[in-house]
Formats: sequence, C-alpha cells, structure tokens
Amino acid sequence: MHLILLGPPGAGKGTQARMMERYYRIPQISTGDILREEVAAGSTLGKLANSFMKKGSLVPDEVVIEVIEERLSRPGYARGYILDGFPRTLAQAEALDRVLGLAGPGIDLVLSLVLDEEELVQRLAGRRVCERCAEVFHLSFRSPRSPGICDSCGGPLVQREDDREETIRRRLQVYKSETAPLIDYYRREGKLKEISAVGNPEAVKERIDQVLKGSFGL
Ligand code: AMP
Repeated sequence: MHLILLGPPGAGKGTQARMMERYYRIPQISTGDILREEVAAGSTLGKLANSFMKKGSLVPDEVVIEVIEERLSRPGYARGYILDGFPRTLAQAEALDRVLGLAGPGIDLVLSLVLDEEELVQRLAGRRVCERCAEVFHLSFRSPRSPGICDSCGGPLVQREDDREETIRRRLQVYKSETAPLIDYYRREGKLKEISAVGNPEAVKERIDQVLKGSFGL
C-alpha cells in the first residue's frame, strides 16, 4: 500500500498518518517531522529549512526531494508507506513519480482530506504537539489526560512556531497556490479519493478505512 495523504494544513494528515501506521502496520513518512527533527538537531539542513518553515513558506523543492529520496532508500518500506506532507508542489510530485518509476511500484492511492478554511484555522490555532514523539493533541478537541503532557510518551506539549495565527494564514495561502493543483494532477492519474475531514479523528479514519477496503480489499 503506497499512499499519499494530501490536504491543507490542519486537515488532520499527521493524525491520520499516525493512526494508519498503527492500524495497518505501514510506516508513515512526514517531511514536516523530518525537517523539525533537523531543526531541533541544529544541522545545516535544519537551519536552512527553519528559515522557510518559521515564515510558513515551503522549503525549496530540491532540498525536500533529497530528504524524501534518502528516506525511501532505507529498508523498512517494502510493504509500502504513507506519505504525509509530501509532495507539496507539482515539481515534487513529478520527482516522486520519477524516483518511484525507477525503484518499483508507484503510488497506489492519494487520499485528499477536505475541510473548510475556518475550521482549519481553529484546528491549527489550538493544536499542541509533543516535543519528543510528535503526537498531536488539541486544546478543545483532543486534550491530553494531564495538561501539557503527552499521553503517549510523557513528553512536553508545545505550540509549533508556525501554528501562530499570522503564519497559519500564510500557510493556507501557500497550500492554495502550490499544493492544491496536485488534486487535479492525481485526479488525472485516476488515483485521487476525496475524504471529508469533518469530525473527530476516529470518524475520519472510518471514512479512510472504507475507501481502503474498497480499493485494496482490506
Ligand atoms: P507540516 O508538518 O507538514 O505542516 O510541515 C511544516 C513545514 O515544513 C511546512 O510549512 C514547510 O515549511 C515544511 N515542509 C514540510 N513538507 C514540505 C514539503 N514537501 N515541501 C516543502 N516544504 C515542506
């Protein structure tokens, strides 16, 4: 199962990717998480990436493409993967097709999460993430058992720098101009399935499960 989770920031891609990873036992790859790890480690890549991320802009294609190529070349992805947050531009989608075309099976399905803008802003502004394991919580919709502490690993919950209101608006703008065209790209390839992201994570996962059942007989 080689999947892409597509959708605007705040639609729940990361939450769904993690739930699917646990349920289907297929690894998820989040370019956002990889880049944030590099930022935290203070690497050259992290410093470069952070100069774009903190403004809500995209990290340049060639940088992210190299990151994903390196990751996909590692062992552990033989049964498939769930890509979260990649590709985000047409150039990235074409690069992915090229890389996968050389290496074996291509993308089977693209799940496009759909949610209206006001709800996206609400979700992003209340989001808190675990600094240690990147698990996602929400002040109103998914509060942790103890305030400020991750249910999964006990790590501290923080607000992402790019989840502040003014950066959120910029990220949504970037999504519309750079990433939304991928919806048509994958629709033309016959791989697109649109999924309503309304409701709690379990409700959205249920919709995804139905689609995967229909497509893969799972
Ligand atoms: P995310 O966690 O997916 O919301 O990503 C957070 C930030 O990381 C984005 O706003 C971008 O600055 C950067 N980023 C993550 N994935 C990509 C990508 N595929 N292309 C360019 N920038 C990315």
